[in-house]
Amino acid sequence: MDSERAFFTGFCDTTLRDGEQAPGVAFTADEKVAIAAALDAAGVQRIEAGVPAMGPAECDALRRIADAGPRAELVAWCRATRADVDAAAGVGLAAAHITIPVSDLHLGAKLGRDRAWARRRIRDCVLAGLDHGLRVSVGFEDASRADDAFVIDLAGELRELGVVLLRWADTVGIMEPFGISTRLAALVRAVPGPWEIHAHDDFGLATANTLAAVRAGFTWVSTTVAGLGERAGNAPLEEVAMGLRHLLHADPGLDTTAFKALARLVARAARRPVPHGKAVVGGSVFAHESGIHVDGVLKSPATYEPFDPAEVGGRRRLVLGKHSGRASLRHALAQCGLQAADEQLGPLLDDVRTRVSELKRPLRAREVREMFLQGASA
Ligand SMILES: [Zn+2]
Repeated sequence: MDSERAFFTGFCDTTLRDGEQAPGVAFTADEKVAIAAALDAAGVQRIEAGVPAMGPAECDALRRIADAGPRAELVAWCRATRADVDAAAGVGLAAAHITIPVSDLHLGAKLGRDRAWARRRIRDCVLAGLDHGLRVSVGFEDASRADDAFVIDLAGELRELGVVLLRWADTVGIMEPFGISTRLAALVRAVPGPWEIHAHDDFGLATANTLAAVRAGFTWVSTTVAGLGERAGNAPLEEVAMGLRHLLHADPGLDTTAFKALARLVARAARRPVPHGKAVVGGSVFAHESGIHVDGVLKSPATYEPFDPAEVGGRRRLVLGKHSGRASLRHALAQCGLQAADEQLGPLLDDVRTRVSELKRPLRAREVREMFLQGASA
């Protein structure tokens, strides 16, 4: 795994651009500023902050984000048009990302154009960006359905022009980790230099594909907080970071303890609650209920936790529910300063199960305490 550790460079988070493109999501300027500040504080290296071509309100928000003086490089997102690139230059950010469709499907069906047009158009836009003094990166939209030979050709040409980073987008999330790894390793061999993976989650494989891309030699990852994004969303920042650290043994370079708070902040602004079972940042992913698991966790947390919840700003919770056992009950009572005799535990456990089935939620410590005291006095 030493090669991954040496290769991995950083995160380009696009919560404020692709994340906001999730249907029905619209951040206010204050929310954008707060999210950018939180991403910056967490150590995200590049923040795709917005789309200047959307108009004055977006540009004002981008200027406010820049005025805060983040450590992260702020990136303005552009379609491949001169107007978009000029708008990006007008905002005053140091970097612009220009996207160009590269699949025949997108070029033909969406734009009525062909590969030669795409080549001319992106070249013109990149040169315009460079003339403005911008650091320019280029995104290949729908690269996963494009002809690899065309992408390799175009990528080589753009690198020579002075493009600092190339993004390979699995726009509709149709890749799987084995296939993407083979394709991207060949791409990196053909066109060395910084590549970024942008994966969508239509088949639930965005994180897996992103990690596979890093293993193949990609050095940048494009993510969004909690995976917010078009359709099924993007590769989640927190999943990719924890996967890098614990599965690929590469340093994500982020303050991962910020993840829970970051997910809450974005969920509030997006009006999209984080699902309970969402990996890394879900409300229940560090809660243990079943008897065997609680017994194990009380003896050694590593038995049922792949990493310490504190690493992502989370907290371990042992809850009492239908599947609780004696060890959980004894532990819960001890937390309330109560000690139960062995013969009391069986009937109390029956009562807990009945109650939980009625309430459809775990019991609170206060409720268990009351049940125990009632049972003891009966
Ligand atoms: Zn996308």
